[in-house]
Amino acid sequence: MSRFLSSRHETLKPYVPGEQPKITGLCKLNTNESPYPPSPDVAKAASDAAMMCNLYSDPECTQLREDAARVYNVAPECILPVNGSDEILSFAFLAFCDERTGIAYPDITYGFYSVLSGLYHIPSTEIPLDNTFNINVSDYEGLHKNIAIPNPNAPTGIILPLSDIERIVSSNPDNVVIIDEAYIDFGGESAVELIKRYDNLLVTRTFSKSHSLAGARLGLGIGCPEIIRELNTIKYSINPYNVNRCTAAIGSAALRNSEYYMNNCAEIMKTREFTVKELTRLGFELTDSMANFIFARHDKISGLTLYKKLRERGILVRHFDSERIKEYNRITIGSMGDMMRLVAAAGEILGTA
Ligand SMILES: *Cc1c(COP(=O)(O)O)cnc(C)c1O
Repeated sequence: MSRFLSSRHETLKPYVPGEQPKITGLCKLNTNESPYPPSPDVAKAASDAAMMCNLYSDPECTQLREDAARVYNVAPECILPVNGSDEILSFAFLAFCDERTGIAYPDITYGFYSVLSGLYHIPSTEIPLDNTFNINVSDYEGLHKNIAIPNPNAPTGIILPLSDIERIVSSNPDNVVIIDEAYIDFGGESAVELIKRYDNLLVTRTFSKSHSLAGARLGLGIGCPEIIRELNTIKYSINPYNVNRCTAAIGSAALRNSEYYMNNCAEIMKTREFTVKELTRLGFELTDSMANFIFARHDKISGLTLYKKLRERGILVRHFDSERIKEYNRITIGSMGDMMRLVAAAGEILGTA
């Protein structure tokens, strides 16, 4: 028994972030950050904003919402900026999920969904992926539960086409469907347009992966005005100034430099193709990833052993020890140099160098 922690939280299992070690020369491929720095305008935006930090930030993030509205082709009322997209997930679970609606998500997916279900005591249903790690869309049709799905899924990287997303959203009109698009910029087709036709859809975005801003903590919720209004009720009950002044300014600057980030994403997609080809040549089996990471296993070496041997060589990847995926490692796509180093190390470990 804990001395002060409420008994409501006694069984809570918090999210375990990927390691952020302070070792120099480490090739860090474990948390899906971008290998590229933010666009140059971001530095000036941040320093100008920093000198106004005596004043509270704009709780409505007016400028940022306008910039985002232009990029995503929706009205500013359809956007809620948040302190990292983990925060919009938290607001949405708190706002929309209860005993009656529950929440359903794939058995292999982003770990935060089960953490939030535990935190808010929401009955959760884990729907198994098939044995090729694909989502069976009909499992989610007319489910009568709220639903959270990352598209592409993590850590598999496998994407559902927009028509399948629409089937899920349209067949659950009385429940909220959260489509977590953390990795959509690496070759996928976004569901944002669908918010104009479906009032039960919430799309979440993060600046952490495709926009090189993991350390700034910025995400967006995008949905119809009513969904956003309801999420704001939660936000103003928890943290009205959830996005700080520097981050809001950085986000605006980044949205005005969209072309820079889209070029980086194209580069990452090319590097992904190279890495898949090289690892396949070494005998790895990979899922068909549309994200800035790949998910790989090898018959000759266990997932954990490969993880350890790469780490000994200064390359950090992400290993999950849950039963279905313990033979795999999730490997972030870094720079071309990073990936050549990874491929060389993997070849050496397998004795095929
Ligand atoms: C990284 C990630 C997030 C969280 O992003 P932040 O904006 O950094 O909080 C959300 N969902 C998925 C699937 C992710 O991989």
